[in-house]
Amino acid sequence: MKVLVGVKRVLDYNVKPRVKADGSGVDLANVKMSMNPFDEIAVEEAIRLKDKGVTEIVVVSIGEQKSQETLRTALAMGADRAILVVSEEKVEPLGVAKLLKAIVDEEKPDLVILGKQAIDDDNNQTGQMLAGLLGVGQATFASKVELADGNVTVTREVDGGSETESLKLPAIVTTDLRLNEPRYASLPNIMKAKSKPLAQKTAADYGVDISPRITTLKVVEPAKRSAGIKVADVDELVTKLKAMGVAK
Ligand code: AMP
Repeated sequence: MKVLVGVKRVLDYNVKPRVKADGSGVDLANVKMSMNPFDEIAVEEAIRLKDKGVTEIVVVSIGEQKSQETLRTALAMGADRAILVVSEEKVEPLGVAKLLKAIVDEEKPDLVILGKQAIDDDNNQTGQMLAGLLGVGQATFASKVELADGNVTVTREVDGGSETESLKLPAIVTTDLRLNEPRYASLPNIMKAKSKPLAQKTAADYGVDISPRITTLKVVEPAKRSAGIKVADVDELVTKLKAMGVAK
């Protein structure tokens, strides 16, 4: 059984984003980039499914040449093979979904695992669009994934509880934060990953048009929080809260 996992190179989640002076986007020059955290969870889940009948994990990234590093990290975690679709320009979720569809048509995986969202643009669109383009089932926000008898059973995080669904394979699953805790790649596995296959492609190889359809008009930093005040004791705090109408 084959699993395909999408991994995106994004601004590291510990880095405080800075907006470019001209307001055209987030400044990515000289900042730490890492694998999208939800995609680390997706890779981890695919690896854990190796005990449950998964025989091959193919990781795919669409992005600049440097995304090779992200793919090597996934290979060091335990994926078997990687495909990089090189685009030095940003590819919108629809373009990513179309490229993933072309790769799925070629690779014919039984299961595709993506993150629920990439933390750079917070789109939360790619998995849903891919399922639509392929005409297969999707289960988003997975907190538990089980494979059995040609089906995948997914527990999903929903408002105030969880929902369990069974989908016929092939299917698309997107990961939520509580699905698992991704492993760190060990040094020997990082070394081994260097010799695992990594194919390089372009959108033209798949005949997919990735020209942008969305224009970003303006990006602004969040408003600065105004400074707080210090109170001497609890009595003063309660008096102030009453004055504000927050406490009675
Ligand atoms: P998004 O819809 O952009 O929030 O992304 C959702 C998920 O789709 C991510 O967590 C990835 O698994 C996958 N994905 C999005 N963009 C890319 C990309 N450029 N390369 C590989 N996977 C991607």
